[in-house]
Amino acid sequence: MKLTIQAGIVGLTRRKKEILDREYTNLQRFLSGDKTVPLYSANKQQAIRYYKKVKQKEYPLSLRNDLINLKRAKAFWFLKIPVYGVRGGIKVPVKPHREFPQGKLCESKIVKRKDRYIAMLTFEFDAPPVRRCSSILAVDLGERFPATAVLWQNGTVMKAQFLGKEIRGVRRHYAWLRRRLQERGLTQVVKRVGSKERRVVNTILHRVSKWIVSFALATNSYIVLGDLKGIRKQVKGKRLNRIVSNMPYFRLTKMIEYKAMLEGIPVITISEAYSSTICHICGREGKRKTQGLFLCPYCGEYNADLNGAINIAKRFERSLGYMPLDGAVCEPAHNQPMLEAPCDSEG
Ligand SMILES: [Zn+2]
Repeated sequence: MKLTIQAGIVGLTRRKKEILDREYTNLQRFLSGDKTVPLYSANKQQAIRYYKKVKQKEYPLSLRNDLINLKRAKAFWFLKIPVYGVRGGIKVPVKPHREFPQGKLCESKIVKRKDRYIAMLTFEFDAPPVRRCSSILAVDLGERFPATAVLWQNGTVMKAQFLGKEIRGVRRHYAWLRRRLQERGLTQVVKRVGSKERRVVNTILHRVSKWIVSFALATNSYIVLGDLKGIRKQVKGKRLNRIVSNMPYFRLTKMIEYKAMLEGIPVITISEAYSSTICHICGREGKRKTQGLFLCPYCGEYNADLNGAINIAKRFERSLGYMPLDGAVCEPAHNQPMLEAPCDSEG
């Protein structure tokens, strides 16, 4: 399994910054046709190998795995980058976005964003074996709560957790702030505020996904997620667009899948269609009476937020058939060969 971790190149001395700038700029010049620029030979070969057709504006430096070197010294990580004219390359401090996995460093890249360099370091390691689980953690992506998690064991709800509610408040606050700034014509500040908002929301999403995965690990559960179609059934039209664009369900799903994969927890996505309009007790059509209450004409009123998650759990349980849960064999949703760690922008 391969995993790419972003690591910002930090604290560059002026000399190293100049050397790296030169190597990077020369790569761009080389790719735009100037074959005489000084460029480290292996970096040149890598460029020829990977960038046959020059389309993009800028290309990352592609580094051969046998030439890069990553070492830890006390609390810091140092990366050695091969460059033209400096024997052995330059050694630069890097700050990884998350912990580097134990594994072999593969061919990696250095990209430039604005005036900063970021190392995209790819590791190869053995995926943890996929666990066999004995219960279900169903996660409903909803409107009132971005995620409602229900631990389902022996046909009952053992625990229910409502997660990420604060995102709505964050969104509202920033929408208000942006409006105020726009009124004053501060367009640049509006942009900065936007990326700040994204970081704040990402922090919450990381916390939510971490909670879900840790809880699944502790209870030996499958993680069963509803898909976005479920939300489409809950709301329609303009309101739907607003909800889907305001709630980063896709990012949350990716984070859960990624964190679960590192623990060997199977993640299954099932169609959530109708899950919120069907009564989990009798399976008949009911409706949301208020935001928080579900009304079934046969079973009465109960918590609407739990209904969707219970339906997801039951649907997954049915799909397992009569097999006992701990003997179930399941296709994990995360069998892509290559994953990129979801990250919180360049912060
Ligand atoms: Zn009912």
